[in-house]
Amino acid sequence: MKHRFVRTVFSLLATGALLLAAGPAAAADKLKVVTTTEDLAALAREVGGDRVEVESIARGYQDPHFVETKPSFILKLNRADLLVLVGLALEIGWLPPLITQSRNPKVQMNAKGYLDASQFCQILEIPTGQITRAMGDVHPLGNPHYLLDPGNGRRIADAIRIKLTELRPADTSYFQQRFDDFSRRLAEAEKRWDEKMAPYRGRKIVTYHRSWPNFAARFGLDVVGYVEPKPGIQPSPSHTIELISEMKAQNVKLIVVEPYFETKTPQSIASQVSGQVLVLAPSVGGAPDATDYIKLFDHDVAAIAAALGQAQRK
Ligand SMILES: [Zn+2]
Repeated sequence: MKHRFVRTVFSLLATGALLLAAGPAAAADKLKVVTTTEDLAALAREVGGDRVEVESIARGYQDPHFVETKPSFILKLNRADLLVLVGLALEIGWLPPLITQSRNPKVQMNAKGYLDASQFCQILEIPTGQITRAMGDVHPLGNPHYLLDPGNGRRIADAIRIKLTELRPADTSYFQQRFDDFSRRLAEAEKRWDEKMAPYRGRKIVTYHRSWPNFAARFGLDVVGYVEPKPGIQPSPSHTIELISEMKAQNVKLIVVEPYFETKTPQSIASQVSGQVLVLAPSVGGAPDATDYIKLFDHDVAAIAAALGQAQRK
């Protein structure tokens, strides 16, 4: 009896010592991932689980084209093993100086810890002919809001899996299992979203910014106009008048607005076409319940289906 007690105490002590040894080491051992947006952070968390520490620079309710950067981001990038970005010039106004100032060779452009997610995705609205940022167009290389197609989310998660595996081969099966689980949950969710959106296929909408071409293509909506004359260009009276007559001609009643734009112009357009304005989350973190990648679509699909259903009953 006594012998067993001593053995139990000893094994408890040994376990405690192991835990103490594993605690700080495990924390230091986590791969440090910095992403530019909260969508990418959510995908990195899905795949990386407890083997990664993930931070996003931009918040989901901010305009990702124009992010005000803080010195603390330089420190985060300085310590990062991996930087995941949207690319297609989305972050061109604020990310390059952060990368340079981080002085971290791992995350410099084209280094092993630099992952441009756009290269794995289906990109829409790629301009043909000469590439230019004339007129302030902020989508010079194609539409950077491609994360709003869950198919692209799955492709990025897989690219992150491959990259994490490269950086930490010992966790290969862990990352694979996490990706498989995410992909399965996403497929189940996609069925749910498709069912919910099925009655509204072909419906016409207007959006403030060109954030939704991938979402619209995936769920069968038709975006017929934009409050902005061009991506990144503020509404002008002449463009607004044209848009109103176009909406009247095509009987369009819904204007989707990103949370970081003014609602005065879309509200006044909506009132002239007897329509409504709907603020949708363009990113994880863009609404209080859009806390991960699947919940982002849960939020947006529920909100837009409700708005389109309401318009139908009018
Ligand atoms: Zn944009």
